[in-house]
Amino acid sequence: MTAIAFIGLGNMGGPMALNLVKAGHTVTGFDPSASALSLAKAGGVTPCASANDAARAADVIITMLPAGAHVRSVYLGEQGLMAIARSGALFIDCSTIDVASARDVAGKADAAGLMMLDAPVSGGVGGASAGTLTFMVGGSDQAFARARPILEAMGKNIIHAGGAGNGQAAKICNNMMLGIQMISVAEAFNLAEKLGLDAQTLFDISSKASGQCWSLTTYCPVPGPVPTSPANRDYQPGFSAAMMLKDLKLAQEAANAAGATTPLGAQAAGLYGLFAAQGGSAQDFSGIIRFLAGKG
Ligand code: NAD
Repeated sequence: MTAIAFIGLGNMGGPMALNLVKAGHTVTGFDPSASALSLAKAGGVTPCASANDAARAADVIITMLPAGAHVRSVYLGEQGLMAIARSGALFIDCSTIDVASARDVAGKADAAGLMMLDAPVSGGVGGASAGTLTFMVGGSDQAFARARPILEAMGKNIIHAGGAGNGQAAKICNNMMLGIQMISVAEAFNLAEKLGLDAQTLFDISSKASGQCWSLTTYCPVPGPVPTSPANRDYQPGFSAAMMLKDLKLAQEAANAAGATTPLGAQAAGLYGLFAAQGGSAQDFSGIIRFLAGKG
């Protein structure tokens, strides 16, 4: 049993914290949202009045926050977690944030003699509730070994991706592939429709041929071929277009900073930006098929 502080109890953090409670850990928590805090309390998390109150006596401090600016403000500065955490505490940031912020904050933790991991996730709210998330983890071997049993209470695939920031790098590279692939599958189904080729027939062929990919076989953007895909429930997420846009923008930011050439990633970010601006942000990201077909 470990004393764990959980900061950021939203759609993802809330159910993740409850899985830590179910695994027998003592969990203190904070979120500025009263409703998030009371949901967590109902699941056995001890609610606290601030992040620092939750974290002061914890051995492991986990954050699940919206973006890099939130992570910097919660960890750094005179009032930040790094200033108040007990010596030997382990920080695990599970938020999806920019690689540069992840490396900067981890470097500051290292300079203060504290261990920190970046551990963004895939699997969405469903995976957070079921405890089946995939964690992509950046940081030292020693910190990873310490974190693994904690992360196993919230996920089923725990992968060490290398040093600080590499968890974030893995997450945005993966989601850039996913965003590009979804657009490619969507365009192919839209073309097939114009050519008089039935969607189920294209699925039956391409799912056995070289066009095969996750966006086709698990998450098909047309209703019918994969009954569990969001296309069968009017594109309710799932993984929202707003989240996909966030990750594609992070990928472009990282590509620009690193001097990598990612023209399709840039194109995908642009298309998801337009889809989101025209009312698609709360839809599942596979709903881009309707936008690409000019159906809104
Ligand atoms: P969310 O908005 O539901 O939750 C974020 C929570 O952080 C909110 O409850 C908010 O009140 C809280 N918060 C904001 N500032 C805070 C602060 N200073 N201290 C403490 N709490 C603070 O978002 P979410 O869907 O839970 O996503 C969280 C992170 O997980 C994001 O980085 C997101 O990109 C990533 N992610 C989300 C999904 C998904 O499907 N929702 C999937 C993978 C990764």
